Amino acid sequence: MYDVLVVGSANADLTVRVQRRPGAGETVTGTDLVESAGGKGANQAAAAARIGGRTALLARVGGDAYGELLLRAQHDAGTDVSPVIVDDAARTGTAMIIVDPDGDNSIVVSPGANAALTPQDVAAAKDTIAAAAVVSLQLEIPMESVRAAATAAEQAGTRVVLNPSPAPEAAALAPELLAVADPLVVNEHEARQLSGLADGTPAEWAQALRERGARSVVVTLGGDGALVLDASGAAEVPGVRVRAVDTTGAGDAFTGALATRLARGDALPEAARFAVRVGAAAVTKPGAQPSYPTRAELEALAP
Ligand code: ATP
Repeated sequence: MYDVLVVGSANADLTVRVQRRPGAGETVTGTDLVESAGGKGANQAAAAARIGGRTALLARVGGDAYGELLLRAQHDAGTDVSPVIVDDAARTGTAMIIVDPDGDNSIVVSPGANAALTPQDVAAAKDTIAAAAVVSLQLEIPMESVRAAATAAEQAGTRVVLNPSPAPEAAALAPELLAVADPLVVNEHEARQLSGLADGTPAEWAQALRERGARSVVVTLGGDGALVLDASGAAEVPGVRVRAVDTTGAGDAFTGALATRLARGDALPEAARFAVRVGAAAVTKPGAQPSYPTRAELEALAP
């Protein structure tokens, strides 16, 4: 049995800091390259495993050094990587990240092996999906594979946490997919885009997303915490005040933690309160996966 099975992406994050991001045709010199483990799926799995969730990851990586880096990072976090497919015909997905002194970044993603995670791969993992309390999904793998995972989870009675990120056009999110999201986890940008309400409040976005079919909704609000909405109503979860150093991967830390707590039987507001603390801990350190807290580190975080 698993608390959480993540079906999603794994990327090597290749980061260079620069004084100024280059324009068209321009070359700038940056710092030494930093290679770290990322990708929304792998991030969420690492976050879940580090806080003690029994976690597995279904992803594809290439048979290359970056694939090894990603597998090692998951192994160190405590994730069961036996469902991961090592694809010798593909390169591991990479995100090339350029960060300027203001912390603003430009990112180019090369999906690589992530694009080869097929509905057949998902079908082959049917028993693993059925063995999980929660399946966590994002949108960095082919949409038909996300849908296959959602359908398989629904058939097995496994709860689906859906983080529709990177944000698709509202029309690209199939109603059948939205209808199994329990919850749909969105940040402010995704909430505006998918609700169609460019203005409005988090409560209004959440309401609109429930009306579009999501069973429950969580809107993450950066340093302000989160808003949750389910059949028993809306609840605001206040943020935790910390010194933010790097917010990369905070949303994934939140979602991995939320999925774990839901798997353990928490009600949505209770799970979100826990996840807000994990998200806050993640912004106090640089990087995505390297910033995710263990249970002990979380307990040390100020209330
Ligand atoms: P990212 O794209 O940076 O991974 P996101 O836009 O998906 O994040 P946010 O709403 O910015 O998601 O953040 C997710 C969670 O991380 C928040 O609910 C909160 O728990 C935590 N968090 C983010 N920024 C801060 C901050 N400045 N201070 C405290 N907690 C934060």
